[in-house]
Amino acid sequence: MLRRLLWPTVFLLIAGLGWLGWQYLPRAYNPFAPLHVADPLTPMTEFKLRRLRSDADVCRAALETAPLRTVPRPDAGSAECPLSDAVQVQSAAIPLSSSFLASCPLAVSYALWESHVLQPLAQQHLGQGVRRVTHLGSYACRTVRGGTRRSEHATANAIDISAIALTDGRSITVERHWTDDGPAGGFLRALHKRSCDTFTMALGPAYDAAHRNHFHFGMGGRFGLCR
Ligand SMILES: [Zn+2]
Repeated sequence: MLRRLLWPTVFLLIAGLGWLGWQYLPRAYNPFAPLHVADPLTPMTEFKLRRLRSDADVCRAALETAPLRTVPRPDAGSAECPLSDAVQVQSAAIPLSSSFLASCPLAVSYALWESHVLQPLAQQHLGQGVRRVTHLGSYACRTVRGGTRRSEHATANAIDISAIALTDGRSITVERHWTDDGPAGGFLRALHKRSCDTFTMALGPAYDAAHRNHFHFGMGGRFGLCR
């Protein structure tokens, strides 16, 4: 008799716990809840980012929660470099050196990055807020240097960032400060490492000479390529 009741009891217990989790789990930890840019980064963030990469509607909904001013771009581009569901990011929470074209997933990840990675790390390492982000562009129809593989830039899936200006007026550049022994270098190296929390790819000066003066942050490939 007891044996017969065991499995139904276990099943009910698991179903009950699942229901409780669904009801009371904070949104940032709930894998089924939509991504909100204001939510803290959690182990579920990557799962949510994976989902919005493969579903344009889910991505658009997440983008609406971001403090970005965006203008949708009509689908365009060429066969080699198609542009779909792209937006022109005109402004962000932190002022930009200029607007940039982004795939929807790149725009969402950028918004997560500036609020949850860049701004807190600048405070932590330099005791300063960030006043401006300087980038070198996002969309360029080309292959990866020295090869035939298409660059993430070919689909507006990556942005190259070269400098961070602080509220005290100082400018931290990848080119000058990457090897710096002081807080500026520590900040840049921490920024490179932590940027993989919001982008699938983060390449910097340690990767190759082509990246000596900028970080490449992309959303095209598999998660976790951070060198
Ligand atoms: Zn790049």
